[in-house]
Amino acid sequence: MPPLKGNQSTSRTLNRLLLLNHLRRHGPTARSDIAAAIGLSPAAISYVSSELLEQRVIVEVEAAAGDGRRRMTRLDLNYSGHLSLGVKLMERNLRATITDLGTNVIDTITAEVDARAPEAVAEATAAALDRLLQRSGEDRARLIGIGLAMPGQHDAERGVCRRCDRFGWKDVPIAELISERAGVPAWVDNDVNAFALAEHLFGAGRQASSLAVLSFGRGIGAAMIVDGQLLRGRYGGAGEIGHVTVVEGGPRCECGRLGCLEAVSSLPAILNAYGMLRPSDRPIEPAALAALAADGDPVAREILDTAGRRLGAVAGTFATLFDPETMVIGGEGVMFGPALLDPLVATLKEKNFQRDTEVFVEFWNDDAWARGAAALAIDSFFSIPS
Ligand SMILES: [Zn+2]
Repeated sequence: MPPLKGNQSTSRTLNRLLLLNHLRRHGPTARSDIAAAIGLSPAAISYVSSELLEQRVIVEVEAAAGDGRRRMTRLDLNYSGHLSLGVKLMERNLRATITDLGTNVIDTITAEVDARAPEAVAEATAAALDRLLQRSGEDRARLIGIGLAMPGQHDAERGVCRRCDRFGWKDVPIAELISERAGVPAWVDNDVNAFALAEHLFGAGRQASSLAVLSFGRGIGAAMIVDGQLLRGRYGGAGEIGHVTVVEGGPRCECGRLGCLEAVSSLPAILNAYGMLRPSDRPIEPAALAALAADGDPVAREILDTAGRRLGAVAGTFATLFDPETMVIGGEGVMFGPALLDPLVATLKEKNFQRDTEVFVEFWNDDAWARGAAALAIDSFFSIPS
């Protein structure tokens, strides 16, 4: 957390964050209840809330009080008053989603781009924003900014991609490149961090004081949020559990090591393992492999069971180390269904020393990554400015 200067504007910023985060976690609340919950005087609440109402960050909502006769005024976040653009970058395309303040999807497009060319990514992002604003009729002035989620390690504060093996990036000031072209602030972070942020802000971790996320798809990663702050490590590389060695002398990973979890249990590695045992002209899809396992196919069952247990063991170690209140499992790999998820969750629980961790499996859809990316910009409303 950056150092704070002890002055009036600092305490105003903190009071503002307390109020906004209370509404984010608990929904519409009366001023007096907010004052009691966050320990501010009614005068302080009235001061902060009138400022936020004026800025249209919050709104007043009318509802019937407990006795059904009186009307009661509550405060709530003005979800539709603000927009964010979330962009998930993949090897050959990007998925851009425009959301409201609550990361609710308004519209989405997919655009082709070569992810190895940062300038082209910035161009394609700005173009996607123009198209989405035009198509949805939404007002550019209400846009908080753009969040880019991609693999690799990032200096989120400076908006620089420090290293991305998959796209061959090193020290790319991508947030600045995007911001120059789109004319709005931009943020960049690891896609798993972005997903964790979205789960913390408006997902399964909304009420949790600490949240861990395990994501597996093309890559495998974890992220941890404590008191609203992502645990980043020195260079933003915290949580890279995909590169924990699980098979000594196993297959070579994208990172150059042998036997990483990602090299044996990522989505492509799982599909590949099936293809080796049951060669075919057409590579199998995750849903088809899940269906085979559900029908009792022994090869499919064995492959998904092994992958699930490996993922669960590493996830259990992660939970043991960080003791999260809640752990969310997400990513495209969720599509492998119960044949993989059941052994994953069972092994996670068995290996987790922290017995009270609540585990959720996120039903996965294609917007989840881009919603996470949108959260990178939205988070600036709810956390201490750096
Ligand atoms: Zn690796």
